[in-house]
Amino acid sequence: MPVSVFDLFSIGIGPSSSHTVGPMRAGAAFVARATHAARAAGATIASVRVDLYGSLASTGQGHGTLGAVVAGLMGSDPETVDPDAMARDLAEVEDTGSLRLAGGTAVPFRLADIVLHPLTMLPRHPNAMRLRAAEASDATIAEETYYSIGGGFITSDTGGDVAEAAIPVDDAVPHSFSSGAELLAACAATGLPVSGVALANETATRSLEDVRAGLLRIHDVMESCVDRSVERSGTLPGGLTVRRRAANWYEQLTRDDPEHDPLFAMEWVNLIAMAVNEENATGGRVVTAPTNGAAGIIPAVLYYALTYVPTVTPDTRDDAVVRFLLTAGAVGSIYKERASISGAEVGCQGEVGSAASMAAAGLAEVLGGTPEQVENAAEIAMEHNLGLTCDPIGGLVQIPCIERNAIAANKAINAARMALRGDGVHHVSLDQVVETMRQTGADMSTKYKETAMGGLAVNVPLC
Ligand code: SF4
Repeated sequence: MPVSVFDLFSIGIGPSSSHTVGPMRAGAAFVARATHAARAAGATIASVRVDLYGSLASTGQGHGTLGAVVAGLMGSDPETVDPDAMARDLAEVEDTGSLRLAGGTAVPFRLADIVLHPLTMLPRHPNAMRLRAAEASDATIAEETYYSIGGGFITSDTGGDVAEAAIPVDDAVPHSFSSGAELLAACAATGLPVSGVALANETATRSLEDVRAGLLRIHDVMESCVDRSVERSGTLPGGLTVRRRAANWYEQLTRDDPEHDPLFAMEWVNLIAMAVNEENATGGRVVTAPTNGAAGIIPAVLYYALTYVPTVTPDTRDDAVVRFLLTAGAVGSIYKERASISGAEVGCQGEVGSAASMAAAGLAEVLGGTPEQVENAAEIAMEHNLGLTCDPIGGLVQIPCIERNAIAANKAINAARMALRGDGVHHVSLDQVVETMRQTGADMSTKYKETAMGGLAVNVPLC
């Protein structure tokens, strides 16, 4: 069963899907469970304990994990939470030393009460958190271990994949696939393009109108994110004093290239990717695509498709958005199923590499590529991101992440263009490159998997 495009492209807040969106979902899921258990036992929750392990503990400060868990415990949802209101709520928790569980029972709590275990990796996943609710006597009411497995998805020791379980799943999709070969076979059997196969699967559980409206809304949120970002200047939060560049670049490009000459295409693509990632770094609203750290790549390549592909006109623009996102989602579901989209599990190749591969596939589809050319585009984009490590300076999703999105977006465009010059026949299949990425990630030192213990994170002194 392929993962739905609506699970891969979820609306949330920055700076990290695995370190912010997933932990917030886990906090909210735990409060619901603990409240139910307390009610069933006639007990009252008097305390909550939060333990973070592995990557969540080592880069959690820079990635906003601590505040995200607390916001989740207060009942916030990543899709609807107002980042400014969340900041005010967290400040109130710090001032009063008390938090209201899902707006109800108050328990004593401050962010400093969260216990960090950066050197302890739980066996199931490097992004783990344990939550415990107890009575005044310290008798346990509820306890659960959650894992944030990338892209905002969470699993738990007892509850299965909590995020996916919350979404109606229909096993009877018409074209189930979990590999590139199966996806191509479905295209060959039906005569449908990749986006057509994905659309048939999505419309097994939603109406066609809902699917289209949902995908167009996702695109609207991507565009709004860029619009907000190019209005904001100054430095990014976190202490690195990284300057926001998108506003200034937008001003320059609007002046130097008012007609969108294709010679400037690469610079516009850079701008869109960086605008999204600067907004992500400030904790703003972004579309997880398929993660927050890599959230700028798909909007930037989609912008290219809508601006520079001659067959995309005002009349066909919405169709192009829908086909692009469905195709990108189909490829993303293969990474999610067969490897990982989590930087803490396989390094940045799983985040930026997967996003570039998805974007290349989406662009190849809009360019009119055959399913084989689309598969080839996805493969090329990942092949040249293999081995990419995750080593963010200061544990912040800023350096190298922001520029890396711009570089990867242009790489994805090149991959799609290369694939369209061929006939779809190529040496390395998408499945082979996905498996290579998985194995490379498994062999990669923990230092390079979102722990801020290696690479740029140790060689560049903090400002
Ligand atoms: S280096 Fe890559 S995987 Fe790591 S936080 Fe940055 S974008 Fe995410």
